[in-house]
Amino acid sequence: MASIFTKIISREIPAEIVYETDNLIAIKDINPKAKTHILIIPKKEIETINDLETEDREVLADLFFAAKKIASDLWISEWYKLQFNVWEKWWQEVFHIHLHLLSNI
Ligand code: AMP
Repeated sequence: MASIFTKIISREIPAEIVYETDNLIAIKDINPKAKTHILIIPKKEIETINDLETEDREVLADLFFAAKKIASDLWISEWYKLQFNVWEKWWQEVFHIHLHLLSNI
């Protein structure tokens, strides 16, 4: 079954998109835990970090380069953190990997 993020990528569900490439999308978190809370999501549906394969190296690298660009665009390059939640015990709710970019600026 398509994840909620796949439905956002295919525009079945609306979201506030802040950045998009052929391989990923970045959206504002619907329930922000910080003043700036962006989710950077690969278009490839991978359930958790534990499901990454060697061939996904580039997918993962793209997420970090997107985070760097978004932080720069938002002028928060010196004040942000990045986070992956992995599995339910550590609060992963959506089983389609996504990098949280958080800042209190
Ligand atoms: P995680 O707990 O790491 O799986 O994070 C999932 C995040 O997705 C949470 O911070 C939610 O607030 C966010 N979220 C869930 N549904 C949506 C949505 N439709 N649009 C934007 N963010 C969402």
